[in-house]
Amino acid sequence: MCPWEFHDKPRDECGVLGIYAPGNNVSLKTYYGLNALQHRGEESAGIAVSDGKQIKVHKKMGLVTEVFNKASLSVLKGNIAIGHVRYSTGGDSSEANAQPLLYKDDKGSVAVAHNGNITNACQLKKRLDQTGSFGYPNLDSEIFLRFLAHYRNFSLEQLLELFLKEISGSYSLVLMTENSLIGLRDPYGMRPLCLGKLKGMESGYILASETCALKAAGGELVREIDPGEGVIIDKNGVNFRQSFPGGCRRLCIFEYIYLARSDSVMDGSSVNSVRRKFGSELAREHPVAGDLVISIPESGTAMAMGYAEECGLPFREGLLRNRYIGRTFIKPGQKNRELAVRMKFDVISDVIQGQRVVVVDDSLVRGTTSCQIIRMLREAGAKEVHLLVASPPLSFPCYYGIDIPSAAELVAARRTLEEIRQYVGADSLQYLSLKGMLQVLRRPKEFCTACFDGIYPVPVVEQETG
Ligand code: SF4
Repeated sequence: MCPWEFHDKPRDECGVLGIYAPGNNVSLKTYYGLNALQHRGEESAGIAVSDGKQIKVHKKMGLVTEVFNKASLSVLKGNIAIGHVRYSTGGDSSEANAQPLLYKDDKGSVAVAHNGNITNACQLKKRLDQTGSFGYPNLDSEIFLRFLAHYRNFSLEQLLELFLKEISGSYSLVLMTENSLIGLRDPYGMRPLCLGKLKGMESGYILASETCALKAAGGELVREIDPGEGVIIDKNGVNFRQSFPGGCRRLCIFEYIYLARSDSVMDGSSVNSVRRKFGSELAREHPVAGDLVISIPESGTAMAMGYAEECGLPFREGLLRNRYIGRTFIKPGQKNRELAVRMKFDVISDVIQGQRVVVVDDSLVRGTTSCQIIRMLREAGAKEVHLLVASPPLSFPCYYGIDIPSAAELVAARRTLEEIRQYVGADSLQYLSLKGMLQVLRRPKEFCTACFDGIYPVPVVEQETG
């Protein structure tokens, strides 16, 4: 990411997609599916397609609609494809690091697209070093290419098993050879991956980070890939490989809070309905005497609606988000950040004037956006402004592929509740408790919550960007 880009939310680092449809050209479907995953990565996009003989890759910096057009898609002809959208941290954002990554030798080609973060990549790279450089020195995903080179005589089944045994961290992976599509989810299932069936195509299947991409590509959900499970799709059909049966499931809870698209279904629950339940639980924990509830659009809207319903307060549109702002690049400094928030949001003054306003947001990261929005609401005549956050205080970094700032930048890491309230300038401030958040979920013990409680489910050996 450009260090000047303004963003005050955790960010996912990738979305992945794979399509297998014998007898059909899949590049357009891959494009539609990838477009539906755009929220998971806005820096670069790429598609690899096989026509059964060779794999062609097109990838560039930019949004899906910027990277692909009629001409580039027309070159990508084939019936198997994988796609990737990427967001990276630090200075690692370059076209060279865009995915899918392609591995080629005299036995054929394999393309790989990865969502997640490998926590033992340096150790593994040293161990496999004799296989040479692949040109991605700072990319943890390169480890998959090194394994492919080192264990080239292994079958696909053996390779998947090896990945699961040796590679630590979070990974939802799609791979393709000239003739097969493969999916793999890490033993903890931290990053999502689901399998869909393409409608009207006898042997057509699709793998994707989220169900919203299945719909966009003309598919319907078959089921989610289980933690520690691989799937190989080829002329023999769909074959599942479970290497870690009954493994320890730890889906990233931020998928429900902010990362996933609201219309996706994850772990059997609609993301939108879970967000509304977070809002309702927040209202039960912290009812506020207000006149109306507003959200910080669009991520906090479902939670604000849940809060308003539970409290019996009206939900109103009090803030407008500028749809045409795109990605906002600003110069460093507080003044410029404030300007960026004013460019991004507008207050609907007649809704706010003279009112006791309850503002519901999904999470509080640096607090800079909330601080500025509360000031704008007061300038518009709000009598009181109460900030309600539909997740617990964010106090710890993430080592599993979500870009959360360092503890020094997290507003909750070193401040009391009262100090945060003063910092953002609200009349009152409350967070949803971790207990309250988990109890609305179907399987409360099966989530990673490390950025809230510091309990990391997978040992962190090192941190690398991916
Ligand atoms: Fe998700 Fe937080 Fe766990 Fe990272 S630490 S995987 S953001 S819940």
